[in-house]
Amino acid sequence: MELAPSPDLVAQRLVAPERPAAAASEREQAFADLARLATAVLGAPIALIALVDDGPPLLCASAGLDRDDASAYLSFCTFAIQRGEACELADLDVEPQLADHPLVAFGSPLGDGSRVRSLAAAPLCDREGRTLGVLCVLDDVPRRLGEEQRRGLLALARQAAQRIELDRRERELAEQRAALARARAEALTSARAKDVFLANMGHELRTPLNAILGCAELLREEATAAGLGQLLPDIQTVDRSGRHLVAVIEDILDLARLEAGVPQLRREPVAVAPLAEEMEAAVRPQLRGRPLRWRLALEPGLGDISTDATKLRQILLNLLSNAIKFTVGGEVELAVRLVREGDREFVAFRVADTGIGIAADKLSLLFRDFSQVHDRRHNFGGTGLGLAISRRFARLLGGDIVVDSELGRGSRFTLLLPRT
Ligand code: ADP
Repeated sequence: MELAPSPDLVAQRLVAPERPAAAASEREQAFADLARLATAVLGAPIALIALVDDGPPLLCASAGLDRDDASAYLSFCTFAIQRGEACELADLDVEPQLADHPLVAFGSPLGDGSRVRSLAAAPLCDREGRTLGVLCVLDDVPRRLGEEQRRGLLALARQAAQRIELDRRERELAEQRAALARARAEALTSARAKDVFLANMGHELRTPLNAILGCAELLREEATAAGLGQLLPDIQTVDRSGRHLVAVIEDILDLARLEAGVPQLRREPVAVAPLAEEMEAAVRPQLRGRPLRWRLALEPGLGDISTDATKLRQILLNLLSNAIKFTVGGEVELAVRLVREGDREFVAFRVADTGIGIAADKLSLLFRDFSQVHDRRHNFGGTGLGLAISRRFARLLGGDIVVDSELGRGSRFTLLLPRT
């Protein structure tokens, strides 16, 4: 027969290192309660619960014994586990494997004269039938269990097995939570690294680009002064491409900032009509030389809006640039009016064009990152980020952008922002 390990060893093993102390003591208490219940149900003085993991059984709880003494009884559990099924030994004196056990042959080491005379045990099994441990009840008289007691023993063993499974699942959940927290921390770290990288790259790209744009401007002036007009188209191509690259870099940096967290907003009272007129001035260069009519329709008494002026300008400029870009000939309009919804007042900035329009099944894609809904062969340029960024900004400002459009007939993008 396998002998019980020393009490020290058992005490060491009883401490499961991966479990928080509070949960471990709660679990020990639950098993101690089950052991006590077993003694009450079976009317026996001693009950033990031992668990098996990878190694030999470990004593987990006992009733009717001091913790230090209990380990001497572990070999009864080992014996019961080896049997692999519920067992009932009514008189241990006649059991060949146990009759020589010191606690059967000579009695308790405390010398109170009592010997272990009978044993009843039920294995603790998981759903797949694997043995997780055993509930073992010992008596100091030879005896057989009644039917109710036998059922009680099996029910308590089932309870103990469920508790072990519950613990295991809790431990797995805690591990998953910890893994998720680690993954989140790693993602945050790499997002921060990406941010720093983008900020640095943005700076590194913009500096030489600004130098190129400056040189293009200088060349344009010198070529004009020297009467070298034939060079102007090439210089304009350098200038246009450079500006396009600056816009692409700005878009990507904006997106990175938005993804890294909520950007700082600077709310201030902004006079609506002058801002709309400013937008007209900003897009005038884009209208030059194009067969486009421009209309600015401002409702009287627009007053002020409390918002972030820079973000508002950026959204409007994007909507207007798109309207101009996607309208080969026709009309582009910026109309501004006040809208009431319940007791809230909004300012509606509507950018309408009579351009190529957008197919109904593509409307839902418009605001996705890097989404361009027209055939790239049209070569309109752009990054597919402008609307995605604009809508995010609009929502940060407490508003939204809505769109309606018809293929071949034009589009209407409306930016709605709360007035206060
Ligand atoms: P970009 O214009 O840089 O491609 P946007 O996010 O601003 O990116 O626009 C995404 C896409 O939505 C455009 O590529 C275009 O296909 C479509 N779009 C945006 N505005 C209009 C418009 N006024 N008319 C037609 N299509 C538009």
